[in-house]
Amino acid sequence: MVPSAYVHIPFCDSICAYCDFVRIQKNESFFSSWKEKLIQEIQEYKISSLHTLYFGGGTPSLLSVDDFVSIRNCFPKDIEEFTVECNPESLDEDKLNAYVALGVNRISLGVQSFKDDLLKVCRRTHTASQAISVIENIKKSSVSTFSIDLIFGLPNQTMEDVKKDIFTFLSLDIPHLSIYSLQIEENSIFGKTGVEPCDSDLEADMFEYITKTLEAAGYIHYEISSFCKPGHYSKHNLAYWQDKDFYGFGCGASGRLDGIRYDNTTSLKEYCSLGPCPVYIDETLAERGMDAIMMALRTKFGLNIKEWNLKYQSDFKEHYAQVLDKYREYFCFEGECIYLKDAGLEILNTILVDFMLIE
Ligand code: SF4
Repeated sequence: MVPSAYVHIPFCDSICAYCDFVRIQKNESFFSSWKEKLIQEIQEYKISSLHTLYFGGGTPSLLSVDDFVSIRNCFPKDIEEFTVECNPESLDEDKLNAYVALGVNRISLGVQSFKDDLLKVCRRTHTASQAISVIENIKKSSVSTFSIDLIFGLPNQTMEDVKKDIFTFLSLDIPHLSIYSLQIEENSIFGKTGVEPCDSDLEADMFEYITKTLEAAGYIHYEISSFCKPGHYSKHNLAYWQDKDFYGFGCGASGRLDGIRYDNTTSLKEYCSLGPCPVYIDETLAERGMDAIMMALRTKFGLNIKEWNLKYQSDFKEHYAQVLDKYREYFCFEGECIYLKDAGLEILNTILVDFMLIE
């Protein structure tokens, strides 16, 4: 059984300055053929059970409740974790109640910053007070859990700004945080307008502050960019990080079936006329094993070496002896598992590059 499904809703009201995801401004002329193709794509799999379902985007909360229902009804009724990504300006109380009635039990809210001038720089179309009022509504609703996204390292953002964001996050008593450092993507508005990345020392100081403050407040730093209160892990994201298969539905979605990854077309025009047109990624077993290492080392659960050896027909400790020795003070072994200490997570990319250099 494939445990998880991701549905990509590629529409947005406006385009944020840092974003290079597959998204377009909502366009009625494409919408009905997009929806028809998406429903066809999902129904072909005749899914009878699922642990986690994730509607991401784009902005899934832009869908009308009727459109949401017709896509949601392609999936089984009982799903352990059903997450919908929302933006503050498109999540009102009625929609929230409709989601709950349709089995949504986790909201992921794109807040990005609690500072209005930084929201403007990012071309977000909501204010900080709008985001706070939506957070209060979510807390009053019967959604079991929720998360917000924040970004740090934004243009002209100071350490004081980051401290205020974390203070506001903590004062709102939110169960989960995904927090990312700004990446200047070539195809984003920031990339095209020559915005400079944050100074790397300041960015490292910000991340250290975030990690220490959240851990001191009782949050578990369970993945490099994810913090939660006990019991509020994102089960869906854990499926990615723990090397599980997942369906990816929709224009711009990616999935993995029988260990083989695929990317659907990113062209809405192509999707609307021909359907998902998946491109399967031709990877050797060793490359798939490397993908599994890269995902697992992002988390505090690490990699189960015994399972990895069996699945990828190799000997992890022997094959990567050189890297394990070079970074020995950053690794921890516990039972069958290896994971990175906090200091190791701080240099995760450097360590992963060395893993990748091993043939
Ligand atoms: S960040 Fe989210 S809301 Fe903004 S343009 Fe990208 S997908 Fe749309």
